[in-house]
Amino acid sequence: MLSEIDLGSLIVTFVALTAIIAVRYLLTSGLFYWLLWGRSQDKVRAVKLMDRPLKPGAVRKEIRWSLIASAIYAAPAAIVLELWQLGGSAIYSDLSSYPLWYLPLSIGVYLFLHDTYFYWIHRLMHVKRLYPVMHRVHHDSIPNNPWAAFSFHPWESVAGAVFIPALLMIVPIHVGGLLFILLVMTMTAVFNHSGYEIFPQWWLRGLPGRNLITAAHHDLHHKYYTYNYALYFRFWDKLMGTDIMESEYEFLK
Ligand SMILES: [Zn+2]
Ligand SMILES: [Zn+2]
Repeated sequence: MLSEIDLGSLIVTFVALTAIIAVRYLLTSGLFYWLLWGRSQDKVRAVKLMDRPLKPGAVRKEIRWSLIASAIYAAPAAIVLELWQLGGSAIYSDLSSYPLWYLPLSIGVYLFLHDTYFYWIHRLMHVKRLYPVMHRVHHDSIPNNPWAAFSFHPWESVAGAVFIPALLMIVPIHVGGLLFILLVMTMTAVFNHSGYEIFPQWWLRGLPGRNLITAAHHDLHHKYYTYNYALYFRFWDKLMGTDIMESEYEFLK
């Protein structure tokens, strides 16, 4: 099936996807940067997580790494989109192809598998030999801010970019479900790196906050390095004894 892909069409798809991913990043990170960091602080109702200023030049570096990451994320995605057009992927567009209950189930399966992959690949990237090669760039962002959402070294981007396209070849998903997953990916990346906890107390103290990752949780990963590795859910961190949260913040006590 790979040999049936038309190279010209693949290049057009790749360029278009790179532009879409980059613009998506610039708009969402730009919006949240302005809302949280760019306005007078008495207008911001979210809780600021680290009391230190941004390093000089940090935002410029984060944007540069993120734009490179956009092209890397676009490459495997473009191949899968081309394969979809040729009928060679697990993406479906006719809702009646599978029972309706399969749609939320498939979304849950994608998010859980993505979270599992991210947790373990993230722990691997913290191994001494891999950390400086793959992951130090991402940890340069202290304090976190929305521009850091997609700031990865190219090797880390490659590791991050291949998983969802690989799943799209195996696990059936409706194209609407896929768009929903991409929306969740984008928003969690921006929220978790925003440097501010934007969710209300009832959310953080209740069932959602005890199980889902927010900025306060991921900020502790950037602070301590050896806790809170996961992406969406606290499941793996809790299971593996790497979860911290409630004891760290006055506003959660
Ligand atoms: Zn991070
Ligand atoms: Zn890390």
